[in-house]
Amino acid sequence: MAELEGLEFGKSDFVLLDEVNMEQFMENLKLRFEKARIYTFIGEVVVSVNPYKQMDIYGKEAIDAYRGRELYENPPHLYAVADAAYKAMKRRAKDTCIVISGESGAGKTEASKYIMQYIAAITNPSQRAEVESVKNVLLKSNCVLEAFGNAKTNRNDNSSRFGKYMDINFNFNGDPTGGHINNYLLEKVRLLRGGSEEMLGSLHLQNDPVNYVYTREGAASTTSNNDRSNHRAVLSALQVIGFSEEEIDSIYRILGTILILGNLQFETDSESVQVVGSEAVSDIAGLTTTEPDNVTKSLLYRTVATGGGEVIEKGHTEKEACFGRDAFAKALYERLFCWIVARINAVIEVKDYNPVLHGKNTVIGVLDIYGFEIFDNNSFEQFCINYCNEKLQQLFIELILRQEQDEYQREGITWQHIDYFNNQIIVDLVEQPHKGIISVLDEACLTVGKVTDTICLESMDAKLGQHPHYTSRKVDKTMEFHRDFRIRHYAGDVTYSVEGFLDKNKDPLFQDFKRLMYNSSNPVLKEMWPDGQLSITEVTKRPLTAATLFKNSIVALVDKLGCKEPYYVRCIKPNEMKSPVLFDDARCQHQVAYLGLLENVRVRRAGFAYRQPYARFLQRYKMTCEYTWPNHLMETDREAVEAIVTQHGFQDDVAYGHTKLFVRTPRSLFTLEQERAAL
Ligand code: ATP
Ligand code: MG
Repeated sequence: MAELEGLEFGKSDFVLLDEVNMEQFMENLKLRFEKARIYTFIGEVVVSVNPYKQMDIYGKEAIDAYRGRELYENPPHLYAVADAAYKAMKRRAKDTCIVISGESGAGKTEASKYIMQYIAAITNPSQRAEVESVKNVLLKSNCVLEAFGNAKTNRNDNSSRFGKYMDINFNFNGDPTGGHINNYLLEKVRLLRGGSEEMLGSLHLQNDPVNYVYTREGAASTTSNNDRSNHRAVLSALQVIGFSEEEIDSIYRILGTILILGNLQFETDSESVQVVGSEAVSDIAGLTTTEPDNVTKSLLYRTVATGGGEVIEKGHTEKEACFGRDAFAKALYERLFCWIVARINAVIEVKDYNPVLHGKNTVIGVLDIYGFEIFDNNSFEQFCINYCNEKLQQLFIELILRQEQDEYQREGITWQHIDYFNNQIIVDLVEQPHKGIISVLDEACLTVGKVTDTICLESMDAKLGQHPHYTSRKVDKTMEFHRDFRIRHYAGDVTYSVEGFLDKNKDPLFQDFKRLMYNSSNPVLKEMWPDGQLSITEVTKRPLTAATLFKNSIVALVDKLGCKEPYYVRCIKPNEMKSPVLFDDARCQHQVAYLGLLENVRVRRAGFAYRQPYARFLQRYKMTCEYTWPNHLMETDREAVEAIVTQHGFQDDVAYGHTKLFVRTPRSLFTLEQERAAL
């Protein structure tokens, strides 16, 4: 347990601080980081600081030490949380989830992988082949998703550019039977620019990233030593998961198409726009199994329906053609990514599960999703990401803070009220129907005629100027007048530039490209573009906007998490240099603040670390007390529990609720556990 570790490593649970304030919190966090103790509890929450070096704490011995143990028996570790979630799922048949949050580079994805490895290690002791194969696919899916969904950014060499929620299903034995992956908002722009190593390594094309516009920028800063082995790993992962040769070949072809598109240029001669050179077009046609003439046509014209129901072809300007080309490349990538996820899901989906035969099917969900982002220039992507974090904070408040307070009230236990900031007001600012920012954006996108980003900003300022968490450029002169608005997020102020919001919110892809892809004779490609079969007169109905689609997916996610028992991992990034020795006080303090960790400790302390219904407590510990063993003669279970508590001398550490015993610190319970074990 905590103290067993020795105080020179600091307090292993922030609940044990002498006083709860920022100073002591930071002092403890820093001390532990310096002593290579990267994990610290707040009750059942694990706070993790990225060590930026390989730690020798994930081996088999560690796994054995945590397997089946109680949280307070071992030093803080991801394994402790993983085990707690697993136990709750197995013993009490509860669906649980592990929410991993923190900013870019804080260690979320690494944490999620350690958690999955732990679960894989402790399940299926009898090595049943079909369970092993499910586990294998679940683990391999990480490798594939990272290859296609991660990119090098200046904050993280292997940054996830998509959010991931993975459900792992278990049978009544507690063995994995399958799973399901949800992915959220892939940030395509950066992926194309950063160019993932595997993507290049995998091409039968010219192998040097510098030759392609989309990957040139990333190429200079990307180390390519590992390209080959990474590529082999991805290829083998794809095969293990069950992608066919044809499918893998199609993936390469799409990646190739994207790169060629990036290099494709236009020129204007005597008023008409042309593609420069003919090779690119025939290469694209070859890779996508389409007709070169149709490729050219999609690149240079769009089909529009006139008011009179007539269908005409309208030539692009050079600028429009470039825009169309880039939108096409991004859409190809996004559809490829979503198709890969769907393909993996088809393999890991639980099949033929019969609850009568197999017992209740339970789930552990693991959420690895982008943390709050503040950049120098914040655009539509940051807006979405930060909105998502508001929603998750709302859930956190809901589940941890409010639930805690409510339970004490219900149980009639007096306790000090903890004030916390409820960010519902910011969530509303973004998502409220008819009023919120998303709705203003959508309205602007639906308006026929020339609506610019600035006009949309006008309308936001007019509608939301008075909102306490919205600052208009008209009020704050430090903001760029032609483009900025600011949101006071729970985690801090973020100024967004509205430039590009409308384009990013609309589906910017000309229908002609969709039709081109749908008409490909490659069945894999065709499958990715079902909407390409609509004729031009059928597509008048507007598709949902990107912001609304994202909102809907996040609302669904929060609903999913909300009905599970949550466990939290809160990741902190110690510095901007990826250094294993530097603890940047100001940066860390900022993260502690916006993760709401102090409030978390306060609630936990004002509160009680453990609680148990009287009967269950009695059941477990009655043998440690002469008055309750083998049976008690008291009128109520509560009185019997009082006898146990008093005999062990921790009456000051508990409170008696209407139905449950509340224990303040883990220590008391640990004493009891030891006695029980010694009998
Ligand atoms: P993003 O939001 O950008 O995806 P992230 O929070 O997922 O960021 P990771 O990719 O998990 O961040 O971690 C960034 C890097 O930090 C890793 O590539 C690794 O080098 C290092 N790192 C993180 N956690 C650990 C750990 N437990 N042990 C050793 N190194 C780690
Ligand atoms: Mg990540």
